[in-house]
Amino acid sequence: MDIIVQKYGGTSVGTLERIRRVAKRVVAAAEEGKSVLVVVSAMSGETNRLVGLCSEASLAHNGREYDVIVSSGEQVSAGLLAMILNDMGSPALTLLAHQIPVLTDDTHGSARIKDIKTDVIKKRLAEGFVVVVPGFQGVTEGGDITTLGRGGSDTTAVALAAALEAEVCEIYTDVEGVFTTDPGLCADARKLGKISYDEMLEMASLGAKVLQTRSVEFARKYSIPVLVRSSFTDSEGTLVTMEDEDMEKVVVSGITYERDEAKISVVGVPDRPGIAARIFKPLTDAGINVDMIVQNIGTEASTDLTFTVSESDFDEAMTITKATASEIKAADIVGDRDISKVSIVGAGMKSHAGIASKTFTVLAGEGINIEMISTSEIKISCVVESKYMELAVRVLHKAFGLAHEPLV
Ligand code: ASP
Ligand code: MG
Repeated sequence: MDIIVQKYGGTSVGTLERIRRVAKRVVAAAEEGKSVLVVVSAMSGETNRLVGLCSEASLAHNGREYDVIVSSGEQVSAGLLAMILNDMGSPALTLLAHQIPVLTDDTHGSARIKDIKTDVIKKRLAEGFVVVVPGFQGVTEGGDITTLGRGGSDTTAVALAAALEAEVCEIYTDVEGVFTTDPGLCADARKLGKISYDEMLEMASLGAKVLQTRSVEFARKYSIPVLVRSSFTDSEGTLVTMEDEDMEKVVVSGITYERDEAKISVVGVPDRPGIAARIFKPLTDAGINVDMIVQNIGTEASTDLTFTVSESDFDEAMTITKATASEIKAADIVGDRDISKVSIVGAGMKSHAGIASKTFTVLAGEGINIEMISTSEIKISCVVESKYMELAVRVLHKAFGLAHEPLV
């Protein structure tokens, strides 16, 4: 069986008319002789509406019942697509998470997939059905419904593609693929034909919100080629795949940004073992994600420690860290909401020198001060004052030759 998995996001199934358009694409793939498994998101806006209802209904809106409610959006769009496919003469049926089953742990609201059985799906595909699966939902061993976290339908799709050893997982969305940067910021941003899993992971977690990060981790682990493309055009999209020699020749693939960052500095921290753990443990316990961390070289038994969190966590992180700072007798704590992060991503950085210094030179040339720096093998991130973020993205995009060639 040549199985392909297609996933359609919320805007692609946002209206009945759009679902009909999706159905045509599905039929076209089936007519090519493929066994097609389709994963759908909820109609656009629906999950937000359901989440809103939960918070209005009860203060304790998390957990088991939350998942019963928010997972329903996907069931509706899946059922509608299957109905429309049948009307078009293409036999289709839905399989919900518990019917497959897509087994997860019991972390309601952000469950992790543990196992996917393929017998039922394979049987139905072999019988000639298009199988439509609601994304985002899973089921625990005990039979309770779970959801995989916002954006989780991408992960459902890639995980199913892995379990079924599908040829490809096509992710249909409202953009034409992965761009060198946000086309909203740089009119000359270019669509990438191909990108490696590692680059995509950096791009996804750095703010290019095309794919849920966890779906890319899955794709990398099982080497599933993921094609990101638009359901509104016939444009070819971007293939997320294993790194190859071509990719390494491209030094920088993209510039990403995270606008809503904030930083907290703990000044005059006693320089002794266990202090960093004391500072970060309460943040982790509160579920706050710490992004960059910089610790200065200490002078006389004390040091400064600065870290970033997302702006939405800032107030809580400040309260928690103030308490810790006074317990460990730090001299002071300073917060700043007005920062953003700009990052340069490229697999070719591994084999090319001078990318960091070029980045710093370009930013300096615009008078932009870099407040923090962090790097990985294929990424350089700089924290800058928020008001300079867009400028930084544009000048770096240009300096690294990412803009598309002018047409005339
Ligand atoms: N409907 C869910 C959300 O909006 C899952 C998804 O669309 O991927 O987060
Ligand atoms: Mg999405």
